[in-house]
Amino acid sequence: MDLSIYFSEQHHQVRDMVREFGRTHVAPVARELDRTSEFPWENIRRMGELGLLGVPWPEELGGAGMDQMSYYVTIHELAKVDASHALTISAHTNLGTSPIMDFGTEAQRRRYVPLLASGKVLGGFGLTEPGAGSDAGGTATTAVDKGDHYVLNGSKVFITHAGVGEIFVATARTEPGKGNRGITSFILTKETCDLERCRAVGVGHEDGLPRVKGFRAGKKEDKMGWRASDTRELVFEDAVVPKENLLGTPGHGFINFLKTLDAGRIGIAALSLGIAEGAYEEALRYAGVRKQFGKAIGSFQGIHFQLADMALEIEAGTHLLYHAAWLKQNGKPFKKEAAMAKLFCSELAMRVTTKAVQVFGGYGYTTEYPVERMMRDAKVCEIGEGTSEIQRIVIARQILGDVVG
Ligand SMILES: Cc1cc2nc3c(=O)[nH]c(=O)nc-3n(C[C@H](O)[C@H](O)[C@H](O)COP(=O)(O)OP(=O)(O)OC[C@H]3O[C@@H](n4cnc5c(N)ncnc54)[C@H](O)[C@@H]3O)c2cc1C
Repeated sequence: MDLSIYFSEQHHQVRDMVREFGRTHVAPVARELDRTSEFPWENIRRMGELGLLGVPWPEELGGAGMDQMSYYVTIHELAKVDASHALTISAHTNLGTSPIMDFGTEAQRRRYVPLLASGKVLGGFGLTEPGAGSDAGGTATTAVDKGDHYVLNGSKVFITHAGVGEIFVATARTEPGKGNRGITSFILTKETCDLERCRAVGVGHEDGLPRVKGFRAGKKEDKMGWRASDTRELVFEDAVVPKENLLGTPGHGFINFLKTLDAGRIGIAALSLGIAEGAYEEALRYAGVRKQFGKAIGSFQGIHFQLADMALEIEAGTHLLYHAAWLKQNGKPFKKEAAMAKLFCSELAMRVTTKAVQVFGGYGYTTEYPVERMMRDAKVCEIGEGTSEIQRIVIARQILGDVVG
């Protein structure tokens, strides 16, 4: 598909660079990392060197100094090969770093962003709790003001990079009884759980970062997909957080994190679309080589219809994605369009990957081909950063406005 209406020359270059990185360093290891659920530290180092862990952040803060569109292009392209690698970029950049860029003080930006943007350490975002998922305003983690510090108690679940990361942003309730307005966000630091590997690879750990006492990662989740991405609990047990680690205005944590999620949804749309395209390209290739009844299966009308539907949905999703990205890039409202892109692209990723497995027949159901992994990776796109049901609620609120109470 010709993306020239959305892409500048720089976006094409970014796409080519990421495509080459994906082909050379990700494709050969994706299947094994999925099988072992291992975190790809060598590729994290390479991604840092290429600037892929700080695409939209300024060069003086260690970033690549590119634009928001380049960031979405990066996720989209990498997800064609492996969703876990693409998620690392998305969770680290938008969820882990953008709240510090958007709501942090100058001192916080200078302290933390260079470490994150350069890929020296990984970041994450703690909003979801055992009893507060879609209803993230139900935050039960508490933060009690003790003068020069806060004491946090509670836990966050399903946190991407909880084990491997060192810098986190997270919410806690500072004022009981004040609903969403009683939630505040904080910056929290801890040591990576993979210290030995990190020391060997040379990224993932910074000796100079203080550790927040009483803050740690919990058990690693054993997941259906995104298996080379680290997902764990974050636990706060009388965690002592200095006042200087307060992120944004007290009481604005929930509202600010919802803004972070709006932008994140464009990233998950890009990731979903990438998975779908990866599976479609595999199916297209296979349809040309697999022979039954003496002919390539791609010559049967039943297969034409599958491929035509896949191509149609991918083109529609591409326009939704890059329209939302263009709105964000140009400082225009994008809440509804981001939710639409996320909803449509995540659900199309599920449909397209399921069709791809069908085109491969029995071989598609084995790990010999990547389409079964892509199908498993697609499912969580309908859940993370707001489920499909929540996207429909967001869209409905935007289109109905004050029409209904
Ligand atoms: C691999 C993975 C990585 C993740 N990474 C992070 C992360 O880095 N940081 C983070 O904070 N969170 C993260 N999450 C959490 C994710 O955002 C939540 O799982 C998601 O928001 C849904 O919350 P829940 O799982 O508690 O489901 P629930 O909210 O319990 O939902 C269960 C079902 O009920 C439906 N439902 C709920 N409310 C409504 C409603 N009002 N109307 C209609 N249907 C409704 C949901 O759509 C869903 O189908 C991650 C999750 C996964 C699986």
